[in-house]
Amino acid sequence: MSQNNGKNAIKKIIGVVSGKGGVGKSLVTSSLAVLTRRKGYKVGILDADITGPSIPKMFGISNKALASEEGILPEKTQNDIKIMSINLLLEEEDSPVIWRGPLVSGVVKQFWTDVIWEDIDYLFIDMPPGTSDVVLTVFQTIPLDGIIVVTTPQDLVHMIVRKAYNMAKSMRVPVLGIVENMSYVECPHCNERINVFGESHIEGIAKTLDIEVLGRMPIDPILAEACDKGEVEKLDKDYLSQAVDYIESKLKID
Ligand code: ADP
Repeated sequence: MSQNNGKNAIKKIIGVVSGKGGVGKSLVTSSLAVLTRRKGYKVGILDADITGPSIPKMFGISNKALASEEGILPEKTQNDIKIMSINLLLEEEDSPVIWRGPLVSGVVKQFWTDVIWEDIDYLFIDMPPGTSDVVLTVFQTIPLDGIIVVTTPQDLVHMIVRKAYNMAKSMRVPVLGIVENMSYVECPHCNERINVFGESHIEGIAKTLDIEVLGRMPIDPILAEACDKGEVEKLDKDYLSQAVDYIESKLKID
């Protein structure tokens, strides 16, 4: 149990990382949160991707977060997932965050110390892409119970997974596994799977590093549409159900 301030009781914290932006890290974070919430757990998402925040939009949240003397209150999604993101604090949702690293790191720290999360079973952290200083801040500030690496087949997968793996290892955080996004496309007529980016090497890499492949998501227009419309909670795709089962069994909530 992580006690960051007197008001919060957060049981398990999972960071979702990627080597670069645009590989679907936020979608994977949101989907994992939605699926764990559906299993009845109390779930939160801390959007630590300060310069590219997309979590509120994916859930269709445009309200601003309220603050009291006690701290900052997270927003709640339709199904009661608690969310904190810089976009809930900015006046204009589309104003760019052009702050320098230390300021960005400061916000991440505040999301950890000043947000009134209260009781959470699983807190998912949408990490900034890459292995920047801000990522390091998250590792150093927040007591992660594990990380999940999101990659796509055309990434320099080996290097990226290894980098994330080494960073987590040096911070003594377990790597729970890899999710491969945009793995394939399925023909809506004949269900044939097409490997758009060629054969995946993910199994081999996972084997070398002795970590699990937790799931594969295809390129699916329904996913993109749900993100655009702010309706990720309505998705009935179960691409990541195996990943959620794995999280549930590895990081048990007593
Ligand atoms: P990241 O957090 O890595 O920057 P996002 O999760 O924000 O990436 O995804 C970037 C964009 O790609 C989003 O608009 C999302 O809708 C789309 N996208 C991600 N994964 C898929 C997928 N498997 N199928 C279709 N669209 C996807």
